[in-house]
Amino acid sequence: MSETYTNFKENGKKIIAVCRNYRGLTAAQGIPNPEKPILFMKPTSAYISEGQNIKIPVGCKLLYHEVELGIVIRKRCKKISPSEADDFIGGFLLALDMTAKDFHIEAKEKSRPWFLCKGFDTSCPVSNFVSKDQIPDYSDVGLWLKVDGVMKQDSSTSDMIFSIPKIISYVSEYFTLESGDVILTGTPAGSGPVYAGQSIECGIADIVSMKFSVVDTI
Ligand code: MG
Repeated sequence: MSETYTNFKENGKKIIAVCRNYRGLTAAQGIPNPEKPILFMKPTSAYISEGQNIKIPVGCKLLYHEVELGIVIRKRCKKISPSEADDFIGGFLLALDMTAKDFHIEAKEKSRPWFLCKGFDTSCPVSNFVSKDQIPDYSDVGLWLKVDGVMKQDSSTSDMIFSIPKIISYVSEYFTLESGDVILTGTPAGSGPVYAGQSIECGIADIVSMKFSVVDTI
C-alpha cells in the first residue's frame, strides 16, 4: 500500500512556496539575496496534472512560468532543525509556480497580498510523486523549462540561496507541516511570459518531465 503522502494532491493540506531563492534569479533582477526565506502560499485547489490546461486568469495580460522543485512532507513536524529535515522528506515533485505577473507587480507596488497572482485555479501544475531514490542528490539536480521547444530556464538546485533542509527547518518554525504538504523551493533565472496557444515542457534533469498547454479562460 502506498503512503498517503505519495498522493499529495488529495491528502496534503497546504502548498508553501519560497521566492527569490536562486542566486541567478536575484542577480538577473538586480535585487539583493534575501536574509531569510520569503514565504507565500498557494491553495491546493491550484493543482492540475498533465492532461489539464493552464488557464490564464481573467484580466491577466502577463502570465509568467516558474519551474520549481517541490518537497513532499512525509510526516507531521514542527520546529525541526536542518539536520533533522531529511527524515521528514517523503519525496519530491516537479511544479510550475504560475504567476499573474501584472497582478503581482501591482500587488507589490501597492503592498497588497499575493494570493490572487499566485493562487488562482491552475496556477500549480504538478508531476506525479517522485521518490527520494530517484533524486539521490537533491542539492545538485537540474531544473529546466522550454516554451514551445525553446529553452528558457536551465539551472541546478545547487544555485539555491537557502538549502532544502534550511527551508524545511525555517518553515517548520512557523507552520506545523503535515503528511502530503508541499513546499515549493523557488525558481531559477529565466522566468518569463507565456501566452495562450503556447506549451510549456519542463523537467527535473532527465528524471521526470511534464508538458502543459496554456489557454485563455473562457
Ligand atoms: Mg516561484
